[in-house]
Amino acid sequence: MRWIDLRSDTVTRPTPEMREAMARAEVGDDVYMEDPTVNRLQDRAAELFGREAALFVPSGTMGNSICVKLHTEPGQEVVIEQNGHLYNYEMASMAVISGALARPVPSEGGLVTWTDLERAICLKSPFRAQTTLICLENTHNMAGGAVLSKARMREICDRAHAAGLRIHLDGARIFNASVALGESVAELTRPFDSVMFCLSKGLGAPVGSMIVGSSALMDRGRRVRKMLGGGMRQAGVLAAAGLVALERMTGRLREDHENAQLLARGLAEIEGIDIDPERVRTNILIFDLFHSGMDAQQLSDRLKQRGVLANAINPRQMRMVTHYDVSREDCLEALAALRQAVEAGRH
Ligand SMILES: *Cc1c(COP(=O)(O)O)cnc(C)c1O
Repeated sequence: MRWIDLRSDTVTRPTPEMREAMARAEVGDDVYMEDPTVNRLQDRAAELFGREAALFVPSGTMGNSICVKLHTEPGQEVVIEQNGHLYNYEMASMAVISGALARPVPSEGGLVTWTDLERAICLKSPFRAQTTLICLENTHNMAGGAVLSKARMREICDRAHAAGLRIHLDGARIFNASVALGESVAELTRPFDSVMFCLSKGLGAPVGSMIVGSSALMDRGRRVRKMLGGGMRQAGVLAAAGLVALERMTGRLREDHENAQLLARGLAEIEGIDIDPERVRTNILIFDLFHSGMDAQQLSDRLKQRGVLANAINPRQMRMVTHYDVSREDCLEALAALRQAVEAGRH
């Protein structure tokens, strides 16, 4: 059976061009910083983001963990939007690896404002942990791929810096934000102290993420990466796929956004499903099926019988993510399966 897999953009498999680049990659020992392909990938990422340096890491989670560690001391506090990935889906790494306390704040649709964050910041207190770091996420995964504007990010960064705080961007899908906003990743991320982005999601690479920042920060980051067991040896075979991801795969994200829009508009027409297509701006959509009389796990199971994979995120909501390995036709097919599954649930 050929699945239409809408669970995540992490399921993308390397393209033929990536496979070829991997086979041909020149390699060396990257712990000695002697892997030419890793070095090229890091240089290219630094250039694209307009930064001094970049570091190739095995996963987005490790990239975020390294950055939190670089910006905090044990016992300090990190302010983050309450549905943020760093807070909810990284095995409490902030607490375990950095000894930091997360201070989650609510926001309207994941689009956090300075006012939302400011309330939670504590700079000086005889009782409370000191806030030293803010983490933003763009696009925001659990807010349905919501996009923070350049102006909003700039304002938050400026105010954070004025208060003496550091600020990190979880930009796992920053290239999706870049396409949605029509702004370069360098322009969007300039005011952040560090940025993490994933090669292994919409960009299609099999493994790997990057962090970018100053040379001094990335030098310290390399040491933390080694401490966490992320010092890789002939990693050039992976970096080669990452280079193809950066050069070839960013422009086409627009197609994923169009397919997500197609899904959202189709879903909005199904009785019992609630979604506002206007709010779907990138490749992630979250819809509510409370009025369908089914719970999300039931719908997920019914879709699976029809060849479509999608995850329930709680009893009444499901998430779908479009990517390189699902075409417009696949999305139309998925919509037909959804219609049938919801219809069947009513009887
Ligand atoms: C996927 C993701 C990560 C972590 O990436 P892994 O490579 O899966 O560890 C971090 N932040 C966000 C917003 C993500 O979607």
